[in-house]
Amino acid sequence: MKKEMDIVEKTAREWLTKRGVTLDDIADLVYFLQVKYHTDLKMEDCLENVDRVIAKREVQNAILTGIQLDMLAEKGMLEEPLLDIVQRDEGLYGVDEIVALSIVNVYGSIGFTNYGYIDKQKPGILEKLNDKEGKLCHTFLDDIVGAIAAAASSRLAHRAANVE
Ligand code: MG
Repeated sequence: MKKEMDIVEKTAREWLTKRGVTLDDIADLVYFLQVKYHTDLKMEDCLENVDRVIAKREVQNAILTGIQLDMLAEKGMLEEPLLDIVQRDEGLYGVDEIVALSIVNVYGSIGFTNYGYIDKQKPGILEKLNDKEGKLCHTFLDDIVGAIAAAASSRLAHRAANVE
């Protein structure tokens, strides 16, 4: 039997949804990253790997921390000069990427390559999150979502290698 979800995991999952990111959106990114390596790749495998990545405490901690900062920035509740930096998603800031790397780290080095690649391509949900129009702030969330997809891709690739 699956153990009951604790409050940290439950909140991390709820906050992703609340911020407009579904597990299917992230599974689509995994599919994008992995389809060229696995000819019979199924969406349900992508989804399963995303789910397992989000079940990790390090990942939940990164989700809660990053989304919290995005939400505070949106409400103008961070202090200057950090408020302006986070609201503008200033290029040299880089702490958003560092938070995301704590997710990529969980499944080893293939994750880094995937993370760099998807961050440049910005397919699917990443393009939406990166849209700077409007009042929403996704400075941390876009990197977190890319990192979850990269970590899930690594997990999927490792498992496939073990099976073959
Ligand atoms: Mg960012």
